[in-house]
Amino acid sequence: QPIVLWLRRDLRLSDLPPLLAAQGRQVLACFVLDPTLEASSGDRRLTFLYDSLRDIEDQLDGSLLVVRGEADKVIPKIAKSIDAGAVHISADYSPYGVRRDDKVRKALGDIPLQEEGSPYAVAPGRVLKDDGERYRVFTPYFRKWREHGWRDPADTGVNSATWMKPGDVSGVRSTVIPKSKGELDIPAGERAAYARFAEFMADDIDGYDDDRNRPDHASTSRMSAYLKFGNIHPRALLADLENSEGTGRAAYIRELAFRDFYADVLHQRPDSSWWNLNKKFDAIQHDSGKDADADFDAWREGKTGFPIVDAGMRQLSESGFMHNRLRMIVGSFLVKDLHLPWQRGAAWFLDQLTDGDMANNQHGWQWVAGCGTDAAPYFRVFNPITQGKKFDPSGDYVRRWVPELREISGAAVHEPGDARPADYPEPIVDHKTERQVALDRYQSLA
Ligand code: FAD
Repeated sequence: QPIVLWLRRDLRLSDLPPLLAAQGRQVLACFVLDPTLEASSGDRRLTFLYDSLRDIEDQLDGSLLVVRGEADKVIPKIAKSIDAGAVHISADYSPYGVRRDDKVRKALGDIPLQEEGSPYAVAPGRVLKDDGERYRVFTPYFRKWREHGWRDPADTGVNSATWMKPGDVSGVRSTVIPKSKGELDIPAGERAAYARFAEFMADDIDGYDDDRNRPDHASTSRMSAYLKFGNIHPRALLADLENSEGTGRAAYIRELAFRDFYADVLHQRPDSSWWNLNKKFDAIQHDSGKDADADFDAWREGKTGFPIVDAGMRQLSESGFMHNRLRMIVGSFLVKDLHLPWQRGAAWFLDQLTDGDMANNQHGWQWVAGCGTDAAPYFRVFNPITQGKKFDPSGDYVRRWVPELREISGAAVHEPGDARPADYPEPIVDHKTERQVALDRYQSLA
């Protein structure tokens, strides 16, 4: 009997566990364009998705069925049309994915929805304390995560199956993969993902532990969007890292563990996608009204008058990416200097980022706001000027993204003072004052 391979956040053919069951069988590969997800994804994420699908379609010589609709309606029709023995998937642990898959499982009736693997090295719910409880703090989770370990990459690829043609399916209307919605700053797809990681391992894994904090060097792996869409699986990265001598490998493995941890936290607490993990912070006072909206617009447009913040925000809107250090700096500025809710920043990030991901983004923001998984972080208020001088000591990063400041050389660009050109805004707030306001508001909750 043929099987259906329903691709979702695993847009690749190599190292794809759901394909292991396919050996020697006929397989129909399909993707469902879900209008709910399309409506809530920014243009860059959609473009990355569409380009990843084109890469698979191309590798399969056209044998990819793409249908627009609700999965619980579409998937059973496809499965019945080819008399499939089962529908094979990688598990999706996101709150939306869990609900959708429950519905599909019910709608399929006797046809099993077979889960094999997940987008994570260690799937949510697998790393447990000795008493069976889930972790809420990263460091002990990380220790157990390493002990738990992960499977080796699965030996699959284009030749793993006899691929059925979309025309073999009747009763569903296929759609062409939509056109890209603009240019991306990195190419999407499985082949690009493997090529980029090989390049990173050759050029930048050495020294990653220090260099990963330097936005002016742009030497991080840029794997986030590839991991988000499953163009490559973290276990493939981990297999290469375990075989390497690179001095940055321990630090890199730790970042991959963070990705698994945040997915685990979101799975434990689906409400944490838009609500504070730590409820104590629900009572925090935010600014609102016209002035707050004007501040938010200045932040979004990169016109706060704080060079490092503006550089980060413009990198985001112009390229769809922002360096991790900048995500922390601009996040801290929004929440602690402008006193706006982290959710406003998180929504803007999700709209703009190519790698926008519920678990990493929402918990990255909660870390910044101090209401997340960290122990006592609300005292941490980043000073945008000292952060700029420390992590962009040459000033190159700021000059790259804020052209008005290009005439100011070296680190002086972080504090232009009298050299501030007329077309670059004055700081919209006094950092020292706002820092104290933030600390007072946070302390009043204690
Ligand atoms: P590298 O430094 O090369 O890291 C390798 C991989 O490890 C990344 O691709 C990513 O998958 C993972 N990783 C690295 N740092 C983190 C982290 N702090 N948390 C979880 N995983 C991590 N990451 C996203 O993938 N999507 C998001 O929407 C997202 N939003 C964020 C929002 C905020 C406010 C913050 C502070 C962080 C956010 N991150 C997000 C995490 C991190 O900034 C990005 O993963 C990283 O900048 C991507 O660049 P890279 O692939 O070159 O990273």
